[in-house]
Amino acid sequence: EAKAAGRNTLRFYDPQMQAAVSARAALEADMRAGLQQGQFVLFYQPKVQRGRVVGAEALLRWRHPERGFVSPAQFIPLAEDCGLILPLGQWVLASACAQLARWSADPLLARLSVAVNVSPRQFHEDDFVAQVLAALAASGAPARRLKLELTEGLLLHNVEDTIAKMEQLRGHGVGFSLDDFGTGYSSLSYLKRLPLQELKIDQSFVRDVLTDPNDAAIARTIIALGASLGLSVVAEGVETQAQRAFLEQSGCDTWQGYLLSPPVPAPDYEALVRRRAETLV
Ligand code: C2E
Ligand code: MG
Ligand code: MG
Ligand code: MG
Repeated sequence: EAKAAGRNTLRFYDPQMQAAVSARAALEADMRAGLQQGQFVLFYQPKVQRGRVVGAEALLRWRHPERGFVSPAQFIPLAEDCGLILPLGQWVLASACAQLARWSADPLLARLSVAVNVSPRQFHEDDFVAQVLAALAASGAPARRLKLELTEGLLLHNVEDTIAKMEQLRGHGVGFSLDDFGTGYSSLSYLKRLPLQELKIDQSFVRDVLTDPNDAAIARTIIALGASLGLSVVAEGVETQAQRAFLEQSGCDTWQGYLLSPPVPAPDYEALVRRRAETLV
């Protein structure tokens, strides 16, 4: 009967779409339950500058009893859609701040920063600034060691409000990084108005930086832009020495990637920092 209804008519019942809708609903229900049951955990990926670990990025992992590890690429967009990103994002902030507070009490780890990814929906909550300050206060973590990674999508919505929130948190010492830079819609005029300290070159440009002249040109342009705006530039997704060397020669000496370590549980990150401290001295 769908054929009879004509090409441009929305079909009332599509078994495939129906299956996708129920799969989504099931994932959403599992996510809610998982948050209650402690199935979410933060992994940490070291960020290195000229061979030294300078901090870590906290990356969310969901360990579902039957589904196994579910990728953030799968559940973060869904969590944004259904609003679960709000309690999930608060849990991430609380958990990362608690970890930061513990590390701050250890002389070897005290100077290292922790970066937290913040979704646009979470950032645009009226009380976002208060939420961050509450997480810092509850844990005793030092605000100047906390970095928030924002994406360009955030800027599509109320730039004045975005700047005001960033400035309030900056006033407490919190740092800001623009994640996945170059993949979104940033306007360069906004970029210079935002109180940012860091740009992250998206891994999609890093991947083929040695073989694709366009990617190489984009990477170099981001590095030059960062330098002229007084921002640090961090490359994401560095997997080979050749990529690292290219980036370093182009003026970017700070990076994250499997070349050093994937995101790992907190104790493994600590062990990595300790090992490197021993080999460096
Ligand atoms: P992102 O913030 O850009 O994080 C970088 C992603 O690249 C991470 O994927 C990381 O595991 C991966 N990666 C790091 N080094 C390499 C490498 O050398 N090669 C390759 N191929 N990949 C590398 P992950 O952990 O799957 O996270 C994906 C995205 O999910 C993140 O992208 C971020 O946008 C989002 N996300 C993760 N955790 C959170 C969170 O706590 N809150 C929010 N709102 N979003 C999160
Ligand atoms: Mg990030
Ligand atoms: Mg990124
Ligand atoms: Mg990303």
